[in-house]
Amino acid sequence: MITTSLHNHSTWSDGTVDIATMANAAKAAGLKTFGISDHWVMLTENRPFDIGWSIHPERLERYFEECLEVKKQVETEDFTMRIGVEVDFFPENWQKNIAHLANYPLDYAIGAIHNLDGFPVDSSPKPWQALDQDAINDIWRKYYRRLKALAETKAFSIIAHFDLPKKFGFRPTIDLDSEITAALQAVRDSGAQLELNTAGWSKPCAEPYPSPSLLKRALALDIPILITADAHAPQHVNRDFDKAIELLNSLA
Ligand SMILES: [Zn+2]
Ligand SMILES: [Zn+2]
Repeated sequence: MITTSLHNHSTWSDGTVDIATMANAAKAAGLKTFGISDHWVMLTENRPFDIGWSIHPERLERYFEECLEVKKQVETEDFTMRIGVEVDFFPENWQKNIAHLANYPLDYAIGAIHNLDGFPVDSSPKPWQALDQDAINDIWRKYYRRLKALAETKAFSIIAHFDLPKKFGFRPTIDLDSEITAALQAVRDSGAQLELNTAGWSKPCAEPYPSPSLLKRALALDIPILITADAHAPQHVNRDFDKAIELLNSLA
């Protein structure tokens, strides 16, 4: 049984309940370690912050304060809470971002890509519907190259949703094998854990991130796999963890 769940959101970003409710749900579900990892976006340009699904920059300190408060309330001999963030990676400012986060009591940073040079990868199918197949292929190629760059920073201990662009079912029609191989090798060389994110099973793509075939390649490279739920609601803190173990066993 998996007793750790480290990829979870609260109302500090795009989750549905507060941190304490998430932590208590994890405890009630029998987990031993719970991590909160709300979205943290540092803009690359100077403009008013307008991202509703990220912790507001002016409230980052308060986020960590609340995390520490909840930690005090919920921790027991059998239950540990860890404090994380899911960081949007941008090549332009990741160093500045990581240096900024070092001012706070952060236990771990999940590295993620949700936006590619202005293109929102996973917010809605609408931007995808506006693309022709060539443009869809370009997004995929760019995504894997960006993911490789993310891993190469070695700044993140967990790499999020390896094949996120599949979320709404817009698949590439070109061979991306060299990009995928390069990204996987960078993940392996980074020493980070690759998440097996079970939330994908409940999205239009209907499979976890990464897909079983990509997971198989990750396992062949001896990349450590971490099962996560990417929960945005308390009933999801360990959603489909059993299914994930079954899948891993079938691939081993
Ligand atoms: Zn994410
Ligand atoms: Zn997430």
